[in-house]
Amino acid sequence: MEPSAPITQDVMTFPRKETPSDKINLVGLTRDALRQTLIDNGTPEKQAKMRAGQIWQWIYQWGVRDFAEMTNLAKDYRAMLAEKFEVRVPEVVSKQVSEDGTRKYLVRIDGGHEVEVVYIPEEGRGTLCVSSQVGCTLTCSFCHTGTQKLVRNLTAGEIVGQVMMARDDLNEWPEKGAPKDETRLLSNIVLMGMGEPLYNFENVRDAMKIVMDAEGIQLGRRRITLSTSGVVPEIHRTAQEIGCLLAVSFHATTDETRDVLVPINKKWNIEKLLEALREYPKATNSERITFEYVMLKDVNDTDEDAHRLVKLLDGIPAKVNLIPFNEWPGAPYKRSSNNRIRAFATILMQAGYASPIRTPRGEDIMAACGQLKSATERARKSRKEILREAGQAI
Ligand code: SAH
Ligand code: SF4
Repeated sequence: MEPSAPITQDVMTFPRKETPSDKINLVGLTRDALRQTLIDNGTPEKQAKMRAGQIWQWIYQWGVRDFAEMTNLAKDYRAMLAEKFEVRVPEVVSKQVSEDGTRKYLVRIDGGHEVEVVYIPEEGRGTLCVSSQVGCTLTCSFCHTGTQKLVRNLTAGEIVGQVMMARDDLNEWPEKGAPKDETRLLSNIVLMGMGEPLYNFENVRDAMKIVMDAEGIQLGRRRITLSTSGVVPEIHRTAQEIGCLLAVSFHATTDETRDVLVPINKKWNIEKLLEALREYPKATNSERITFEYVMLKDVNDTDEDAHRLVKLLDGIPAKVNLIPFNEWPGAPYKRSSNNRIRAFATILMQAGYASPIRTPRGEDIMAACGQLKSATERARKSRKEILREAGQAI
C-alpha cells in the first residue's frame, strides 16, 4: 500500500545560507574544551575558567548567539570572540506542522547533509526527538532510516544544536529578569531520531551533558531517553557516563526473528543483550527500561511471542512500548491489526508489565517513528535490496 501524499498544514521553507564560515563553533564543546579553546586563542589561563563559565551561560541559559550581547564581558574581549568564534546551530531548511501539532524540521548541517528533528507536544509536556547520525549503518529491515545509504556521525554541537534550534522555534529561551517559568514546552528529549546513538557515543554523551548542565538548558537525566538497537558494550558506559533512561529496540522474542528485524542481533544476541540490560537499572538507581516492540503483522505479533517476551523480561524492571508499525513507501511489512495489538498488550499487562500502545504522531507529515529520512536524500537502497535484507519477499 502506498501511503497517501502527506497533508501538510503549514510548510515553511527557509533560504539556505552559503558556505559556513571558518570560525570555531563554540556549540557542543564541553566546559573543559571551551576553556581550553579560549586559552588556545589568547585568553589568559587564570581568567579562562571564569570566561568559559560566562560564555557558557550566555549560550545555553539565555540562548544568545551574538557575542555583542554578552554584556558582562569587556567590549574588546567580545570583539575578539566575534572575530575568532561563532555560536552556530543547524540551519532549518523546512518545517512542517501536523494536524496534531507535531512539528517536523529538516535541518542542514555542515557538508550539506540533512537530518530530521521532531517536536511532539503532549498534555503537560513536550518531547523532542533528536537525531544522532545522518542515516544509520544498521539495517533494521522495518526502518526507513536504515534504507539510507549515506551516513555520518553528528558532532556534539549538531546534536545539542537541534535542541537549541527547537527552543528558538518554540520561543523558549528565558527572559532576563522574568520569573522562572517551570512549564516547559520542550521538557523531554528522546534520542530516537535518525541513527544509532551508541555508535556515536562520545558526541551523544557530550551533547547530553550540555543539555543536563545546571547552568544551561537544565533538563534532568530522567527527562532524556536514549534508544538503542542493542550495542551491548556501550550500554554500561551509558549508565556510567550519561545516566539517562534507556529504551531498547527489542522487537522480537527469538534470535531467529530478531536476526532479521534487528541485524545487530547477530553480533549481540538476545541473551547477551538481556544480560547488559539487567545491569543497567542497578547502575542508574533502578529505573525501568523501556522495551520498544514494533508490531508487524504475522512476523512478531502472536500470543506465543507475548508469552515469550514475558519470560525474557523476568527480573528486569521494564515496561513495554508497543509501536504499531509505521509504513513507508516500499516497506516489506504491514502493521498488525488493532485487535492483535490489544491482545498482545493484554498478555503483557496480565503479567504485570505496563504496555502502552504508542499513538503514532504526525503521520500526515511522515514524522512517526522509523519514517525519518530526508526526502532530499537520493542515494537510497532499491526495493530489492530492502527485501533481501529482510530475508524474505513479503
Ligand atoms: N537507532 C535507535 C533509535 C532510533 S529508532 C534504535 O533503533 O533504537 C526509534 C524507534 O523507532 C526504535 O525502536 C525503532 O526500532 C523504531 N522504528 C523504526 N522504524 C519503525 C517503523 N517503521 N515503525 C515503527 N517503529 C519504528
Ligand atoms: Fe538504525 Fe534504529 Fe533504524 Fe535500526 S531502527 S536502522 S538502529 S535507526
